[in-house]
Amino acid sequence: MNRDQIIQTLQNILPMEEGQILVNAPMDCRTGFRAGGKADLLIVLQNCDHLGEVLQVLRQEGMPVFVMGNGSNLLVRDGGIRGAVIQIGKDASQIRVEGERIFVSAGAMLSAIGSKAAEAGLDGFVFASGIPGTFGGAIVMNAGAYGGEMKDVVESVDVLTPQGEKKTLSVEELDFSYRHSVIAQKGYVVLGGVIHLQKGDKEQIRSQMRELAEKRRNSQPLQYPSCGSTFKRPAGFFAAKLIDDAGLKGLQVGGAQVSEKHAGFIVNTGNATATDILQLIRLVQEKVQQAFGVWLEPEIRIVGEDGSTL
Ligand SMILES: Cc1cc2nc3c(=O)[nH]c(=O)nc-3n(C[C@H](O)[C@H](O)[C@H](O)COP(=O)(O)OP(=O)(O)OC[C@H]3O[C@@H](n4cnc5c(N)ncnc54)[C@H](O)[C@@H]3O)c2cc1C
Repeated sequence: MNRDQIIQTLQNILPMEEGQILVNAPMDCRTGFRAGGKADLLIVLQNCDHLGEVLQVLRQEGMPVFVMGNGSNLLVRDGGIRGAVIQIGKDASQIRVEGERIFVSAGAMLSAIGSKAAEAGLDGFVFASGIPGTFGGAIVMNAGAYGGEMKDVVESVDVLTPQGEKKTLSVEELDFSYRHSVIAQKGYVVLGGVIHLQKGDKEQIRSQMRELAEKRRNSQPLQYPSCGSTFKRPAGFFAAKLIDDAGLKGLQVGGAQVSEKHAGFIVNTGNATATDILQLIRLVQEKVQQAFGVWLEPEIRIVGEDGSTL
């Protein structure tokens, strides 16, 4: 099939209200840094109901597929993405509370899950409610903050395997570790999952959420586009402290800057290209290596063509 025929086949599968198919789609408006190139084909799904069929068509046609959530940890190189990107939309309606468990779909935003948990008087998810990602992205990354990680609250995760089979994975099978789970390495797509929390006091939970939101506002450069912490925490160190101690706050390549407010964040001050950001990442890695002998690994996911040898 040629591209038009593939699009026609996908349109036949997807009811209008459940999916949008865009050709040559800019990815800057869909990723945290607000930079980067275009995707050949972008399929935005409102939920995962037709995901299996869509993937089957794309794979049969030999089209490379990349699945994303909210794009808050994603940098697309300036040359863009060849093949198809599937963005799993923020279908917040698919969050269901039953007793101490919350059943969520992959596109549910952590903030929406956090609000539902608080409303139901369920404690244990406060750490995640300020992370601007979807459940799917947070499972892939084992996202964490303020002493909590997804691995502490997840009971099971439903995935689609590369062979199109649905599977439910236990926490053990997810093989969580720092900013890692088995999902990416096995090529799974997260469909949804179950979060298990404990009963708590609604007002106390809400007050803790406000407190952590305030902490984020005070310590993070939220007025600029970014993907949060650019680098992973190296064993025995803090990336932000190493970068700060190396005197790199404010260092700039084009429109990309090491934040003056939080050295762990690289921000787009307005007109950064993905290449600016990648060059700044490399410069920071080299300078921290020279100063302290520690090589910083990016935490952000870098995809697409062009520009860098990272
Ligand atoms: C201001 C700011 C603050 C942040 N603070 C934190 C923080 O405190 N802690 C933290 O851990 N992170 C933080 N982040 C980073 C980011 O929000 C998290 O990593 C988040 O979990 C990513 O979710 P996402 O939906 O945006 O994923 P995306 O960025 O869209 O994707 C991330 C990865 O997950 C994969 N993926 C996404 N959805 C699926 C799916 N359904 N199936 C298979 N693969 C999928 C993608 O292919 C990609 O590899 C922050 C980012 C910003 C911008």
